[in-house]
Amino acid sequence: MHELSIAQEIVRIVAKEGASVHAVRVIGASVSVGRLMAIETDNLLFCLDVLKKNDPLTEHTVFMVEEERLQLRCKACGHVTVTGEFLFACEVCRSQGVDVIGGEQLEVSCLEVECDEDWRETECDGEA
Ligand SMILES: [Zn+2]
Repeated sequence: MHELSIAQEIVRIVAKEGASVHAVRVIGASVSVGRLMAIETDNLLFCLDVLKKNDPLTEHTVFMVEEERLQLRCKACGHVTVTGEFLFACEVCRSQGVDVIGGEQLEVSCLEVECDEDWRETECDGEA
């Protein structure tokens, strides 16, 4: 269960970030998952829904999961290929000498939290 361990990591980050801004509740969290993580979004959301109930801070959190596409920079011509496929070649010159520059990270990009006295939104860089 690949998604389960990733969901655990996401809930951990969200709870930690929420606690760091003294939230009483995390209302929403946006999660960006790289294409190379090979996540089934539905499975991940299911796991998040189960795991979030373990912590009062994240119990009612609405998770938004978006997949970050694969980004490859060609070593031969410098072109950056952005793709949703598992295709490790430059789309211009067809060279397979490419560096992966995007699509392999897991990131909690935004949290919406409810604090004691007021509501506020906070940006965070909860990179895993
Ligand atoms: Zn190229």
